[in-house]
Amino acid sequence: MGKLHVKKGDLVMVIAGKDRGKSGRIIRVIPKEERVVVERINLVKKHLRASPTTGQGGIVEVEAPIHVSNVMPICPSCNRPTRVGKKILEDGTKVRVCKRCGESIDKK
Ligand SMILES: [Zn+2]
Repeated sequence: MGKLHVKKGDLVMVIAGKDRGKSGRIIRVIPKEERVVVERINLVKKHLRASPTTGQGGIVEVEAPIHVSNVMPICPSCNRPTRVGKKILEDGTKVRVCKRCGESIDKK
């Protein structure tokens, strides 16, 4: 399992693909595939068949996973997409830091 530079709950900017320039929060991480699902990003139409469990059929839009290399975390301090570095705090906690301003992008 590879270490990804993003995790669930991160606010990220899409830097490639049809949703380039949009941002959203990561709602799911698939480490094995190095993919993430970002809210309202990479929407695909899914056809639902009417059934007793789903009720009425129809078309719904769902988020399809995108590769982690296509997203960049947005630093809460600079409010811009950034590359992330790592820092180990005095108490041993590892945090991800913004390469622009050096601030932690992990919530405390
Ligand atoms: Zn920053």
